Amino acid sequence: MQTHFTDTQLANPHIAEADKILRACVHCGFCTATCPTYVLTGDERDSPRGRIWMMRDMLESDAPAPKDTAHHIDRCLTCLSCMTTCPSGVDYMHLVDIGRAHIEKTRSRPIMDRLARTVLGIIVPRARLFHLALRFARFSRPFAGLMPKPFAAMLKLAPKTQTKLDEIGSADTVFRPSGAVKKRVILLAGCAQRALDPEINASTIRLLNRIGVEVIVKQQASCCGALAHHINQHDAAEQQMRQTVRSWAKIFETQQIDAVIVNTSGCGTTVKDYGHLLKNDAELSDKAKMISDNAMDISEFLAGLPALPVSDVQPLKVGYHAACSLQHGQKILDAPKQLLQRAGFQISTAKESHLCCGSAGVYNVLQSDLADQLKVRKIGHLNALDVDVIVAGNIGCINQLSDADAPICHTVQLLDWVTGGPKPKGL
Ligand code: SF4
Ligand code: SF4
Repeated sequence: MQTHFTDTQLANPHIAEADKILRACVHCGFCTATCPTYVLTGDERDSPRGRIWMMRDMLESDAPAPKDTAHHIDRCLTCLSCMTTCPSGVDYMHLVDIGRAHIEKTRSRPIMDRLARTVLGIIVPRARLFHLALRFARFSRPFAGLMPKPFAAMLKLAPKTQTKLDEIGSADTVFRPSGAVKKRVILLAGCAQRALDPEINASTIRLLNRIGVEVIVKQQASCCGALAHHINQHDAAEQQMRQTVRSWAKIFETQQIDAVIVNTSGCGTTVKDYGHLLKNDAELSDKAKMISDNAMDISEFLAGLPALPVSDVQPLKVGYHAACSLQHGQKILDAPKQLLQRAGFQISTAKESHLCCGSAGVYNVLQSDLADQLKVRKIGHLNALDVDVIVAGNIGCINQLSDADAPICHTVQLLDWVTGGPKPKGL
């Protein structure tokens, strides 16, 4: 794609980066067919190609973002399906970051949108507060119809039953295996996941300890910054990322660490991008890159180890839901399925598995109409599999798909179960 930035514009490193990305796009349109929003609306402006075109015009003009451009960029899920499809290697993920930053800087959002983003940015990254908010949401759900749209969506998305808060992550803790330590990892305990399901971290740690892996959790590294990054709260995102990098980098200074494990793939995509996101940080750029280089999804880490000691084979039919952040963001396609297959489960994958379920961070709150359509479509395909259980590697998807016919849990919960852990709830 041709671009016409001036030399002055190109002196800005963000514009220089955008220019390079834009020039890689040959405008072939292959990406449109696999873009969930284009599949739903058929509108070129809701496709990657259309959005790339609009971002080029917006950035070149150096003017406040046009309303139409902001609207269609907001409707992008950042699912990154377009990056999997693109034959030219267009780095849409970083281009849309630059486009969104320009929109945020130059346009004022409607008050309700601003308010919803502020509330999400305050509550969701704080596990305890989010857990409390979920309790409130359960009781307020009958009044959802009286609320403005994003707040109604928040209430509807709150789980119908509330679990205990996951206390893993509320203090610095080292979880040691009972036998010899074969490997040592850092685990991101996370924020929203701790409020929504306390079993995912517990299963992860039990499973890792069982195979001789010591697990270190740092309280300071409570949020990776992904949520704030998604909703364009750049200062908050950077602060959370810097705090996490500092906290983890200190451990690397004194101990041999084999990996930084993330069991929420949305967060994993962000942690793996720390090196890029903090590349201009004079203090932390090298440390951020080191963290990114060592970051691994739990399935990726387990797949690189000897076969799991399965003690209790359960020949259940499992429907695998590939989270976008895992399949498109991290390009992890087979590891979770192979681990489950090796553990004795029968795996099937639903139709249109490349398409997003609509969760996408807090997209299901801020763009609830499109998110609901994607959810219904995804649940329809999963129900057609007629399986005993659905698994996914991302808490957002697990929450979004909880209305499916089969119970849903994290991949690691099934692996923990068949190697000696408790049976996941609902099975
Ligand atoms: S597939 Fe890639 S090169 Fe083709 S239009 Fe989409 S982003 Fe551009
Ligand atoms: S990130 Fe997803 S929704 Fe956004 S343009 Fe790419 S494919 Fe479409």
